[in-house]
Amino acid sequence: MSEKTQAEILKEQLFATSDHASYTCDDAEIAQADAFCEDYKKFLDICKTEREAAAYVKALAEKEGYKPFDPKASYKAGDKVYSDIHSKALILCTFGTESLEKGAKIVASHIDSPRLDLKPNPLYEDSELALFKTHYYGGIKKYQWTAIPLALHGVIYRKDGSCVTVSLGEDEGDPQFVVTDLLPHLDKKQANRPLDEAIAGEDLNILVGSRPFGKDKGSEMVKLNIMKLLNEKYGIVEADFLSAELEMVPAFKARDIGFDRSLIGSYGHDDRVCAYPSVMAAFAAAAPKYTSVTVITDKEEVGSDGNTGLHSAFLKHFIADIAATQGLNGRDVLRASECLSADVNAGFDPTYPSVHDKLNAARLNKGIVVTKYTGSRGKSSTNDANAEFMAKIRSLFDGEKVAWQTGELGKVDEGGGGTVAKYVANLGVEVVDVGVPVLSMHAPFEIVAKLDVYMAFKGFKAFLEQ
Ligand code: MN
Ligand code: MN
Repeated sequence: MSEKTQAEILKEQLFATSDHASYTCDDAEIAQADAFCEDYKKFLDICKTEREAAAYVKALAEKEGYKPFDPKASYKAGDKVYSDIHSKALILCTFGTESLEKGAKIVASHIDSPRLDLKPNPLYEDSELALFKTHYYGGIKKYQWTAIPLALHGVIYRKDGSCVTVSLGEDEGDPQFVVTDLLPHLDKKQANRPLDEAIAGEDLNILVGSRPFGKDKGSEMVKLNIMKLLNEKYGIVEADFLSAELEMVPAFKARDIGFDRSLIGSYGHDDRVCAYPSVMAAFAAAAPKYTSVTVITDKEEVGSDGNTGLHSAFLKHFIADIAATQGLNGRDVLRASECLSADVNAGFDPTYPSVHDKLNAARLNKGIVVTKYTGSRGKSSTNDANAEFMAKIRSLFDGEKVAWQTGELGKVDEGGGGTVAKYVANLGVEVVDVGVPVLSMHAPFEIVAKLDVYMAFKGFKAFLEQ
């Protein structure tokens, strides 16, 4: 072997590097990462909506010994509690050996994903076809949602308060649904419009049937037939759509991508790819020194507003409640707390290099992305993590051999985005964004690398076990 040159030695000492995680993991760890992702894929297929994810995680947590939080109870180290936020968000908490005076370690991710929501009055008939009107949820590229198989998920509350849960289009043999698109032979006008105007929001109508009721002639016979079928299957009438939350989501299953199976393609990696590892990390960190708080929240994709989003007071109030069990003030606990805002970042895509600053872009397989700030137009509307806290997180991840990298969400003024980081930071908590790099973010079929998913688990666990 030839000896290293002085320049090579000096470069190693002075230059920042980040390697493909497969160079830093041994074969056993790579196998562990692949096995972890098998369970993650199951989670993706079962949990396509925030309600489904919250219910699934709650059931898992109950099996792990988590109990509903009781503000009047007293808790000791190792006790596990949860708080259910209107069935769409969840907080898991394990009490630490240290007093809450020393703060909590919070990991916050989101379980809502972009999709097509049914309007309050969705069903209509036009030209003897039955369709649903939708209002898209979150930042979608509308053209990506046409001509793909969709499944219907959600809940319908009837007038008497009884509830029916809907999941149709996932099982083999289930019917599926679709937004139609123009044929290329007749799309000259559409094709000449800018990409974001090619498909209008009001064009995202979903085809749900085409056969009339019986032999009677009359208006709206196809609609009548659909309503009759819905009445038979779910016991609902048209007015019940008003008290429903019905979401059309891609009907694909999570699949390995590539000859080497190193990647996963799925709907809704953003942000289940952080939520799932964070929950697994909370379960694995069973006896933490500091109290651990794992939040999986709703509404991030629409700005975190509403009583199930992190812009509301649910986390602040939960911290105040657990603080009170130790005779402390919530604000003192928050001031001493630290949080990983666990959300995805854009992975560098070699087909579209121009939107990234290569020096500050996250790459697939280089581990979790530590993102100091997000925002847009000159760091507007974001948490910008404090240097002191960045140093601490760097050191923690290096010490625990968590593959990590830095990343910015695209070039300056190229666009931008946000996460829940700022809402948690606004409570006085030290916060930094940490998450998995994704290709085709917000598309119906997003791509992540398996090693990065595992590094998210490893990173969150290291943070909770400090
Ligand atoms: Mn996200
Ligand atoms: Mn998103």
